[in-house]
Amino acid sequence: MSSYNYIIKYIIVGDSGVGKSCLLLQFTDKRFYSGRELTIGVEFGTKFITVDGKQVKLQIWDTAGQESFRSITQSYYRGAAGALLVYDISRRESFEHIPMWLADVRKHANPHTTIMLIGNKSDLDPRQRQVTHEEAAKFAKDNDIPLFLETSAKSSDNVEEAFIKTAEDVYAKIKDGVF
Ligand code: GDP
Ligand code: MG
Repeated sequence: MSSYNYIIKYIIVGDSGVGKSCLLLQFTDKRFYSGRELTIGVEFGTKFITVDGKQVKLQIWDTAGQESFRSITQSYYRGAAGALLVYDISRRESFEHIPMWLADVRKHANPHTTIMLIGNKSDLDPRQRQVTHEEAAKFAKDNDIPLFLETSAKSSDNVEEAFIKTAEDVYAKIKDGVF
């Protein structure tokens, strides 16, 4: 498909290892990669979706490993209408770093950028869980993050929903003339 009505840039941020590249791969290719080196070379994903009867081209930027050095450039954030803020529900530290990633997004992206908080790896054994759904939902609410989902890039649970719900929110802003 080559014609579309809108093009929307997404960025995915969060600590290294939380599953950002796997979420992108699951969404665009419907597959899961269990190795470690996926980040290398994966910088970009594209997918066409339909929102409210309109063809939307999602252009999704992946950090390509830059996040391990905390050196994400400003051009990464520029023009992003959607930001997926990802932590790993089995790694508490990645959740504790979310305020820092949120501050980064709020500082460098458009103030109207739609933010979706994502707790990834929901497929893991419940005994590995270090962040409850409730506390993350509360964090989102307290910080004016309108969208929150737990996902699994492995089982694909909620992955499509995360990207689509973000697009619907962005689309509503486009219609309102915000973007
Ligand atoms: P990134 O550094 O944030 O891009 O993380 P990656 O996408 O490279 O994933 C890091 C590791 O977590 C890899 O070994 C993945 O296979 C694994 N992983 C990613 N998403 C999931 C998930 O939803 N469930 C499970 N069990 N493992 C995952
Ligand atoms: Mg990666």
